[in-house]
Amino acid sequence: MRIDLHTHSTASDGTDSPAELVANAAAAGLDVVAITDHDTTAGWDSAVAALPRGLTLVPGAEFSCAHAAADGRRVSLHLLGYLFDRVHPGLRAERARLRASRLGRGRAIVDNLAADGIAVSWQRVSELAAGGAVGRPHIARVLVENGVVGSVGEAFGELLSSSSKYYVRKADTEVFDAIALVRAAGGVAVFAHPLATRRGPVVDQSVIAAMAEAGLAGLEVDHPDHTDEQRHRLAGLGRELDLIVTGSSDYHGRNKTVALGACTTAPEQYAALVDRAIARTPVRR
Ligand code: AMP
Ligand code: FE
Ligand code: FE
Ligand code: ZN
Repeated sequence: MRIDLHTHSTASDGTDSPAELVANAAAAGLDVVAITDHDTTAGWDSAVAALPRGLTLVPGAEFSCAHAAADGRRVSLHLLGYLFDRVHPGLRAERARLRASRLGRGRAIVDNLAADGIAVSWQRVSELAAGGAVGRPHIARVLVENGVVGSVGEAFGELLSSSSKYYVRKADTEVFDAIALVRAAGGVAVFAHPLATRRGPVVDQSVIAAMAEAGLAGLEVDHPDHTDEQRHRLAGLGRELDLIVTGSSDYHGRNKTVALGACTTAPEQYAALVDRAIARTPVRR
């Protein structure tokens, strides 16, 4: 069983349409794939409609969250929600709020870049986002198109990094509120790439323990942005806190170099995750 529990489509900042995503997942030899676009479930229906025989789809989303650390620093973090009720009013309203924030903030970053003479237009960014949840990868692609940088990765290295003078924050959800909302909506909450330090500051173990206390079900351990040492440390923490541990590629199509199934989840961990869900079950035809 090859199980990849974290992927993105054109509903957010991936480059495969949801239908292409499930087709590519089957072609990559996956048995189970989760669609986890940033702050949206807009890709679910077309992924289900295009689901190849034999492939199981886990509907999910990746929520943009933040937490104020003990020293007052604001750490941004991502929470994967799986198998939740998409019409739960509180969680649905929060997704809408996050997408609206992404829109205004994307525009503000573009304005900052353009004001400094950097060739990028909001019109092209929003065209690329095509109604999906807007993210920095859309801005990065326009910077590549315009020859400002050579690659999406290069754009993140400087112009779009969170320490760049052009950077603007999103209005992320406090992570403890997000955990409560995912659970209230009958879903399962998993902390995405908890130790991915190359993305910025991360929370410490005491916060992860508090998240577990608050109903977090699992930790994403095997992830392309984690070093072997970080995976080892997280696996130990998962055992200590009695959490499900997952592995996933965080596939974004051509916006990243990582392939579907680059990291995978053990079958018994996947079974435990499905077991925890109250609102719904994975989809298979
Ligand atoms: P945003 O959600 O708008 O803050 O942008 C963050 C997203 O950018 C992440 O979800 C990744 O998809 C993507 N990202 C972050 N760092 C990189 C990178 N070095 N190369 C390509 N994509 C990246
Ligand atoms: Fe992304
Ligand atoms: Fe993420
Ligand atoms: Zn992701």
